Amino acid sequence: MTAKIIDGKSFAEGLRSRVAGHVERLKAEHGITPGLAVVIVGHDPASQVYVTNKAKQTAEVGMASFKYELPEDASEAELLELVKRLNADQAVHGILVQLPVPKHIDANKVIEAIDPAKDVDSFTPANVGKVQIGLPGPVSCTPLGCLMLLRDELGSLAGLNAVIIGRSNLVGKPMMQLLLRDNCTVTVAHSRTQNLADVVRQADIVVAAVGRPEMIKGDWIKPGATVIDVGINRVPAPEKGEGKTRLVGDVDFTSAKEVAAAITPVPGGVGPMTIACLLANTVTTASLINNLVPPSDLTA
Ligand code: NDP
Repeated sequence: MTAKIIDGKSFAEGLRSRVAGHVERLKAEHGITPGLAVVIVGHDPASQVYVTNKAKQTAEVGMASFKYELPEDASEAELLELVKRLNADQAVHGILVQLPVPKHIDANKVIEAIDPAKDVDSFTPANVGKVQIGLPGPVSCTPLGCLMLLRDELGSLAGLNAVIIGRSNLVGKPMMQLLLRDNCTVTVAHSRTQNLADVVRQADIVVAAVGRPEMIKGDWIKPGATVIDVGINRVPAPEKGEGKTRLVGDVDFTSAKEVAAAITPVPGGVGPMTIACLLANTVTTASLINNLVPPSDLTA
């Protein structure tokens, strides 16, 4: 069997165009222009690329985009002050502080300072709780993107065995909540899990969020499973020339695609969904802040 390749890039394009439609309606019918503020501290090159992409795509869907760049040596107090200002700014409906922040700043303190109503990453304790009990609000972008791809591929997920590898607050744990809400039987594996390959072999759905290049092999995959590879790992690619690199996922794509029914590639799978879901979440928060029902096709 050769798996269907799940095209996250094209699904994300479709999602962005739905977002643009909802932005248009919010403007025309309610006079609301959803606004997303992105804050970056320091000059980490990867973060700079993410932030530039986010700002570009925000503008492309018709939202207001605000970008704040603080120097590497900005103090925690300065960052907290900026977050406070954005919390109070009525033109801003979503606040994203690009992580990681420099070591002298306590990331948890910054996250907790964000008004949960504007927390488009769904990192604040209030929003983590809302996702857990199924109240409306922003849902963590990467897990939301994975869920959308899975529903599109499989329809109902009810009764399926899902194995998530990784238990981070960013991916693994919110993914667990979302799959549970969709009535999967969920197992969350991590670095202490024993016989990981056997655990993964039970899965109808595999979500890999480990951060280890090509760790999950084809012979760990149950024939016919759907595989969502969240991992983004840069590895040397001597075949492209000296010092060159390429991106790979946490799943060994070459062997896994021979066993799975469907699989996301890296790049072009989950990655593009994450930014599209950030935009979707900004429409959700802009709606809720204005006491409107958020569009159901943009959330979990
Ligand atoms: P973290 O490092 O926060 O978490 C990794 C998880 O993997 C931990 O729970 C860890 O277990 C587990 N783990 C590590 N080694 C093993 C192992 N040998 N066997 C089983 N489990 C293991 O990573 P993130 O969740 O933040 O990210 C995971 C990957 O997803 C990364 O490659 C990251 O770049 C990528 N990513 C991609 C995004 C996208 O948009 N596509 C967005 C966010 C992340 P333990 O808890 O026991 O330490």
